[in-house]
Parts: sequence; structure tokens; C-alpha cells
Amino acid sequence: ESSSQRWHLLSTLERAKDELQERVYWVERIRQAIEEESFELMAQPIMRLSDREVRHYEVLLRMRGPKGALISPAHFIPMAERSGQIVQIDRWVLRHSLRALSLIQARGISLAVNLSGQSLHDEGLQQFLLEELAATGADPHHLILEITETAAVTDFSSARGVLQALRDLGCRTALDDFGVGFSSFHYLGELPVDFIKIDGAFIRTLITNPESQVIVKAIADIASGFGKLAIAEFVEQEALVPLLTSYGISYGQGYHLGRPIPLSEAIPGVSHGDTT
Ligand code: C2E
Ligand code: CA
Ligand code: CA
Ligand code: CA
Repeated sequence: ESSSQRWHLLSTLERAKDELQERVYWVERIRQAIEEESFELMAQPIMRLSDREVRHYEVLLRMRGPKGALISPAHFIPMAERSGQIVQIDRWVLRHSLRALSLIQARGISLAVNLSGQSLHDEGLQQFLLEELAATGADPHHLILEITETAAVTDFSSARGVLQALRDLGCRTALDDFGVGFSSFHYLGELPVDFIKIDGAFIRTLITNPESQVIVKAIADIASGFGKLAIAEFVEQEALVPLLTSYGISYGQGYHLGRPIPLSEAIPGVSHGDTT
């Protein structure tokens, strides 16, 4: 065995050790955050493009770091998915979103909440929702649950069952990040969803990239063909609004239309502390 082989082995082990330590660090950190409830909820408007009315907000999670900084879900959700902690987190988000919803639904506002792929296997989810709906007085008709296309397609029969169960409770459903896996066109007719959220990657390149135009037009046609409402993500400039409207896309979400703000600010009279 040469010294270069030995060196290679050592550096591979070193990297594996770093990765493991990083994972252990995050699992502990997430555990602590769950225990101390050090999460914050943001809300981003989803705008009806025809009249720019906002009656929907997507709820987006942040973790409060030890020094008070807000940590993006991109940093901890993949880890929480691997460890299974995401199921507890999803329930926490649902509980707090329903509390907020009970205070604003009278104004005709709906909240869209993200569910991870793992929550498709949370057998108590329906019961949990029933109890929380009863406890908070939130109206399920004002709750939209988002599941990513990837999760729905990799786990098609669970997804179909869970989406149907959510609809049976009176909730609406959305297929998030749509278009990334083209095969899903085929599945769409069989999934009980109300909304299709077109992945932001196609929208942010829409004006400059003719291929994105073909794809987005096709998704819009398929959505309306199946009787589903389309939402475009990542609407970052005004020029997109007439273009999306011309494709028959009803709703838009993105930094140009409104950035995520604390849920308490999106909903005057509801402070995050009050909902705890
Ligand atoms: P997502 O569900 O696709 O959410 C949209 C993400 O795009 C959000 O990032 C939002 O802040 C960002 N965004 C919105 N408009 C624009 C825009 O115009 N340009 C750009 N570049 N970005 C925009 P965020 O809040 O960092 O969330 C990232 C992902 O983390 C979400 O993607 C979702 O998959 C996951 N996530 C967030 N909150 C939750 C949650 O409560 N539960 C679960 N399970 N996942 C969540
Ligand atoms: Ca989403
Ligand atoms: Ca999305
Ligand atoms: Ca996404």
C-alpha cells in the first residue's frame, strides 16, 4: 500500500467524521429548538394577478439562532428530514399556523403551510389536525397544505391518500415545486390537489429563456385542463405579471409582489407571542 493510498483513505475518513459531527451538531441543535420552541414563522403573500388582491399567505419557517439571528430552513430542514425531526417540526408549524388562522380567517385570509415528504407517513396527522382545528377554532377551508411534487411522485400512493384525507377534512392542497420532474404531468390527474405551484426556476428565467416559456405555458394548460389553479413562484419583476396572466396563471408569489415578513406583521393584531 502506497503512502498516497493511505493518505487518500485518511482524508476520506476525516471527511466522513466531519460530516458526522456536523450532522450530530444539527440534530442536537434542532432537538433544542423543538424543546425551546425557538422557531419563528414568516408569511409571504400569494397575490391574485388579475386584481392584485392578497387573500393567501404562505407560512415559512425560520429557526432562531443562539445570537438571535434567523436561520433559513435551507440550513436545517434537510437535516431534520434525515433525522425524522421534521415530522415534529411540521406539527409545530401547523399548530401555530392554525392559531394564527383562527384570528384572521374572518377577513377571508387563507394560510398555506408546507408539509414535508416525511409527514406523508405521519399516521397521526389527520387526527392531530382534527384536534388542533377543534382546539383553535380554525376553519379548514382556509388552510392549504403544500406537498412538493418530488415527495408526491416518489411516494405516490401515500401522497394520494394523505391529500385525500386532508381534503376530506375540508382543507385545500397544493403541489409545490411543480415541473422539476416532468413525469409528474402523468400523475397530476390522479392527485387530489387544488393548486399547482410552478417551480421558481422556470419563472425567474421566463423572460430570457424561450424553453422556460414553453414549459410554463404547458404547465399552465395542463393545470387548467385538470381544473387546478396555477401559482407562479419567484415573481421577481413586474414584466412577469402580464406574461403570466397571458398564460392563464391566476396567482403569483415572489419578492416583487411581497417578501416574507413575520407572520405577526402580516396579520395585524396577531403577535407571534400571542399565538404560543
Ligand atoms: P418553498 O416551499 O418552495 O418556499 C419558497 C421559498 O422561496 C421560500 O424560501 C421563499 O422565501 C423563497 N422565495 C419566495 N419568493 C422568492 C423570489 O422571488 N425569489 C427567490 N429567490 N426566492 C423566493 P424559504 O423560506 O427559505 O424556504 C425554503 C424551503 O424550505 C421552502 O421552499 C420549503 O421547501 C421549506 N420550508 C419552509 N418552511 C417550511 C415549513 O414550515 N415546513 C417544511 N416542511 N418545509 C418548509
Ligand atoms: Ca411551499
Ligand atoms: Ca416552492
Ligand atoms: Ca422550493
